[in-house]
Amino acid sequence: MADCIFCSIASGEVETTLVGESETAVAFRDQSPAAPVHVLVVPREHHESVAQMAVVDGQGVADLFALVGEVADGEGIAGTGYRVLTNTGADAGQEVAHVHLHVVGGQPLGALLSGSRG
Ligand code: 5GP
Ligand code: ZN
Repeated sequence: MADCIFCSIASGEVETTLVGESETAVAFRDQSPAAPVHVLVVPREHHESVAQMAVVDGQGVADLFALVGEVADGEGIAGTGYRVLTNTGADAGQEVAHVHLHVVGGQPLGALLSGSRG
């Protein structure tokens, strides 16, 4: 898709150091890390939300999670634990309209939501 930064990274048009990749997905460090380990796992194909992607490419979604596991092993956080999250839409603050799983870890991660109502 035109003007999509993650399409450009996945295709190699924008050079980014990959920390993992598969036939259908790439993994690279978030440019504004929220934790010692903060990697984005991104399908090579453009989809706007992981739920929409699941309807048309269930195997692709499974591939994303398989790559999450490889990234966690490679980053040394498989044993200590990590969180996987994906923002969808305005209330979640989604900035990039191309599916991406945030993989964060390397420290205790605290509550699920910073603005939690408890
Ligand atoms: P969202 O809010 O859409 O879930 O998160 C988008 C994430 O992508 C943000 O954490 C932001 O730091 C990251 N990001 C946006 N553009 C780039 C980029 O060009 N390179 C990298 N490595 N990360 C990016
Ligand atoms: Zn895209």
